[in-house]
Amino acid sequence: MDTHLLIGDRLESGAAPGDTVLNPRTGLVIQDQPEASPQQVDAAVAAAQAAFATWSRTTPAQRSGYLLRIADRIEAEAEDFAKLEALNCGKPINCALNDEMPAIVDTYRFFAGAVRTMTGMLAGEYLEGYTSMVRRDPVGVVASIAPWNYPLMMMAWKLAPALAGGNTIVFKPSEMTPLSALKMAKILADVLPSGVVNIVTGRGQTVGSHLVNHAGIDMISLTGDIGTGSKMIQAAASSIKRTHLELGGKAPVIVLDDADIAEVVEGLAAFGFYNSGQDCTAACRVYASDSVYENLVADLSGAVDAIKYDLADDTENEMGPLISGRQLDRVSGFVERARECGHIEIATGGAVHGTGFYYKPTVVANAEQSDEIVQREVFGPVVSVTRFNDLEQAVGWANDSGYGLASSVWTKDIGRGMQIASRLRYGCTWVNTHFMLTNEMPHGGLKRSGYGKDMSIYSLEDYTTVRHVMVKN
Ligand code: NAD
Repeated sequence: MDTHLLIGDRLESGAAPGDTVLNPRTGLVIQDQPEASPQQVDAAVAAAQAAFATWSRTTPAQRSGYLLRIADRIEAEAEDFAKLEALNCGKPINCALNDEMPAIVDTYRFFAGAVRTMTGMLAGEYLEGYTSMVRRDPVGVVASIAPWNYPLMMMAWKLAPALAGGNTIVFKPSEMTPLSALKMAKILADVLPSGVVNIVTGRGQTVGSHLVNHAGIDMISLTGDIGTGSKMIQAAASSIKRTHLELGGKAPVIVLDDADIAEVVEGLAAFGFYNSGQDCTAACRVYASDSVYENLVADLSGAVDAIKYDLADDTENEMGPLISGRQLDRVSGFVERARECGHIEIATGGAVHGTGFYYKPTVVANAEQSDEIVQREVFGPVVSVTRFNDLEQAVGWANDSGYGLASSVWTKDIGRGMQIASRLRYGCTWVNTHFMLTNEMPHGGLKRSGYGKDMSIYSLEDYTTVRHVMVKN
């Protein structure tokens, strides 16, 4: 297994003591991963600064070529990457291989094309005697900090638009899930000029903090927790770094009285529990119309009971464990406190399972708007269901959240669906589906879910800066 950081063109060991990387299915150690020392972080930033001078002057076609080569290399080694993600995160192998890998490869290919077709204002004589034009230029050196739930995909979402835009990067994966990034280090060292991407591993409070506070960093890109996002803004404040923040979510799912309940149940069983619910868009906060509530809870509990996990043949598994013992404690703490509420019914699940970090897929019924389980991000395989009588109240409850990333509405009346979609304060609203993403469309939040956009041309805009050039005629 790869353990080397990438600093400039050197693949080298971390020089500071680090963490153990665990297998979440068993809780056993996969490897010890030393972390980058402060000197190695400094060297990575210096390498990115040096590379910027030439990388920022490459043409879109040249950068596109590099991105396509990265995509080809990941595609050629997709099985190995999928095995690493399955090992390090506990993902069922088929999810890693068939869902994530094609989407990851497509991210690099999308930005390889997008950067060659950017549009903007027309050049012209907006002042008589002067010709103005708008450029989009790179921001500089980006510190990219990724979470543990989709390690290789988050890396793609961060690297591809930043590279396409002409930036250079120092990337830090989560200390819990560095394995796929360490494998990428070798590919990137092969494909890219020295220093364009540098990879340092380590914990947030040591390596991450040193990196984002570094004077050589021009932009901080984080996918992570709201609390970490707030630290990024503080790190950016003194030297006015640009920030790109993708933070948590608590997606509301409004089920109207005319919804197709079989479709809702199928959708919730899939999109509430994918990646064990460790997904910022997970369909986790259901508001069901009184007229469908009982059927929905009964059918959903049955469907959730049938989710396959911890089977010896991993190709049959639909769900994996949680990432860590800490996350397992956190999730079971939420459910135990919900159970103590009195009015809440744990319709199915509600317990840890076996060895490793498994938690049973869980449906929490009779939840009320003010309950912690409705208000806070659980980030586990737990879906709450709340009954509503009045649609206005349901829309109000859906919007009554500090989060603003994703939401969905389920109804056979598309007009009503569109009307509600226009009122939801979320970066994304799906109608009669949930969770579906495509590289052409933006992904990102409102409110405390952050403000950076991933995927799409909007991400490329976030990683570039608009400049005005004026020529006196
Ligand atoms: P986290 O904030 O604990 O860690 C994210 C990354 O930040 C890690 O690499 C960590 O080492 C680093 N970090 C932590 N403290 C730091 C500091 N002081 N300075 C610099 N870096 C620091 O989040 P997590 O637990 O890894 O991920 C789960 C969170 O991410 C959830 O809240 C989830 O909703 C969110 N998330 C959001 C999206 C999105 O697209 N909006 C996607 C995936 C995950």
